[in-house]
Amino acid sequence: MPKLTKTRFAPSPTGIMHIGNLRSALYEYLIARSEGGKFLLRIEDTDRERYVEGAVSAIYRTLETCGLFHDEGPDIGGPNGPYVQSERLRFYRQYAEELVRSGHAYPCFCTVERLSGLREGEEGEFSGYDRRCRGIDPAEAARRVEAGEPHVIRQKMPLDGETTFTDAVYGTITVQNKELEDQILLKTDGYPTYNFANVIDDHLMEVTHVVRGSEYLSSTPKYCILYDALGWEKPAFVHLPLIVGEDGKKLSKRHGSTSFGDLLKDGYLPEAIINMIAFLGWAPGDDTREIFSLAELEKIFSVKGINKAPAVFSYSKLDWMNEQYIRGLSHDVWREMIRKIADPLFGDRPYEADMLARVLQPRVTKLGDIGEMIRFLTERLPYDRELFSNKRAKLDASLALDILRDLQPKLESLPDWTEESLPALLERTCEETGRKKGQVMGSLRVALAAQQVTPGGATETAVILGRSESLARLEKALAFLNG
Ligand code: GLU
Repeated sequence: MPKLTKTRFAPSPTGIMHIGNLRSALYEYLIARSEGGKFLLRIEDTDRERYVEGAVSAIYRTLETCGLFHDEGPDIGGPNGPYVQSERLRFYRQYAEELVRSGHAYPCFCTVERLSGLREGEEGEFSGYDRRCRGIDPAEAARRVEAGEPHVIRQKMPLDGETTFTDAVYGTITVQNKELEDQILLKTDGYPTYNFANVIDDHLMEVTHVVRGSEYLSSTPKYCILYDALGWEKPAFVHLPLIVGEDGKKLSKRHGSTSFGDLLKDGYLPEAIINMIAFLGWAPGDDTREIFSLAELEKIFSVKGINKAPAVFSYSKLDWMNEQYIRGLSHDVWREMIRKIADPLFGDRPYEADMLARVLQPRVTKLGDIGEMIRFLTERLPYDRELFSNKRAKLDASLALDILRDLQPKLESLPDWTEESLPALLERTCEETGRKKGQVMGSLRVALAAQQVTPGGATETAVILGRSESLARLEKALAFLNG
């Protein structure tokens, strides 16, 4: 019977969640779900120097916000816990000792000073550790370890031959063993290096697919040698392509926001971010659609669709996707989003949230743009005579003054202030005065907004602002035009 697919997201709590981390999590989640398997979360916190307070909670928050729920992990437990590496030190020690016994690893007593001297003196071909302690007689090494001499455990790489493995995305890769450094497995303080811990844990946690960024591709032969030394079956390796900006350069802050948190702050919806990230290295075969919910992705995702070509993160594409998601939100959900943004901006001044939401839904690209889009509503902007002139409508400031003078008493005596009564009044005014709609609506729009272009027209603006604020603005406009 084939093994149950099991993937893991194994972040190091060393900072914020980058797009690349989130892509790993998403692909791992999707591979597990699409194959009816399990997705586990493991916290790789053995690099104590790089540990960042709060990073673990950001990991949980991000996974939850994106709907990437795990089946095993530090918070919910599972059959192969603990799921935090700093709580698993006994396993790493146990297997490191086993590797020493079987001749696949050795204690190294070289001091930090010696090692840094080595690096400084480095010349030509040599890079990394010079294997001095590899030659120490095992019995003597064991005595020195027993006597408490500080040491690390190093992997004993084969000195000849080659190592070959097949990556699901990059294909078959072969390296010459002599090029591989005798890397440290266990540090002096008993903590494992990432290079060791990931192998032990992936095996003990029964991970079937190791999915991660391509920066780990070059270390994978070393992991393969460890699997073989321990007599363990290797998982499938799925390395993901580099993420680049539209200029082809590695994605960085220069291109725009590169962390999940910053993208949220810009005002992208988690669903749109996930949809965008799904395409960073994967494509759904012949299907040319681009909008997929997480539930749809869970059905159609497959390792076969992952491509090794650098994946382009396009902010304009993300903008477009975000628009699609915003347009598709139910009115109630969207109105609540708008209220969260607009309430603090309007302060204690009333506004009609329902109309504001309707005006914005077809027009907003990202939530972060809204504050600026509605500044003409949340603040009274200064007037300028030029604002009232519109060549096409044959409107200028003096005609606008006449129109607004005529409108003011009519608006003041309008019994109700609604999206039906207001346009009806404006229509009637056009008929009575023989003026064009563009002239009447345009004058009122500028009087209310103090800008020529607004999301929504005069009526919508008047409804959002309400009677009292609208009439106050009209009064101000008249005073300005009279002045
Ligand atoms: N802890 C590693 C990282 O955050 C995980 C790499 C892997 O998935 O094996 O990059």
